[in-house]
Amino acid sequence: MQIPDSIQIHDLRFVPLISEDEIQDRVRVLGQELTDRYRGKNPLFISILSGAFVFASDLIRAFDSHCEVGFVKLASYTGTRSSGDVQTVMGLDKDLRGRHLVVVEDIVDTGRTLHFFLEHLRAQQPASICTITVLRKPEAAQFPVPVDYVGFDIEDKFVVGYGLDYDGLGRNVAGIWQLLK
Ligand code: 5GP
Repeated sequence: MQIPDSIQIHDLRFVPLISEDEIQDRVRVLGQELTDRYRGKNPLFISILSGAFVFASDLIRAFDSHCEVGFVKLASYTGTRSSGDVQTVMGLDKDLRGRHLVVVEDIVDTGRTLHFFLEHLRAQQPASICTITVLRKPEAAQFPVPVDYVGFDIEDKFVVGYGLDYDGLGRNVAGIWQLLK
């Protein structure tokens, strides 16, 4: 399929950053690493909604052993900038005590979301917690959060696609696209 030079979403233009093929290759490797680490341990993958649902869906199918999946909805973003406020909107309905947790994020920007959520999880005494994200912006880091597995480190620019949106649109776009500026 021919990939366009740029795409328009609302008032902004985006250019290709990471292709769908590159993402899928990376997801296969990450899935294998998690399989080696958690085989036979029935880990609980916790996908942070909404952005991580596409990655989580690929990742659990690249995980070659039994696992469970849960979802949590947190909110911290409006438009292209963090609102600075993190809230749990929809919680998990599972008992986490003694479980091996794999927290699945779409992108770690300031680290605020993950920092807040990890505190919440640790309080529930799981057996272990690991974190995995498709994208990380090292230059934007403000919170010291442990990220065990990273798909790609990227520049501190706004991106869409592969589950990530710009004011509601772009989640279904294949690959990752960066704001043209
Ligand atoms: P943090 O709490 O690490 O600052 O931000 C994490 C959340 O902000 C991500 O889960 C994502 O929803 C949103 N976010 C951060 N950077 C971007 C970006 O470049 N594009 C989009 N679409 N969302 C982002």
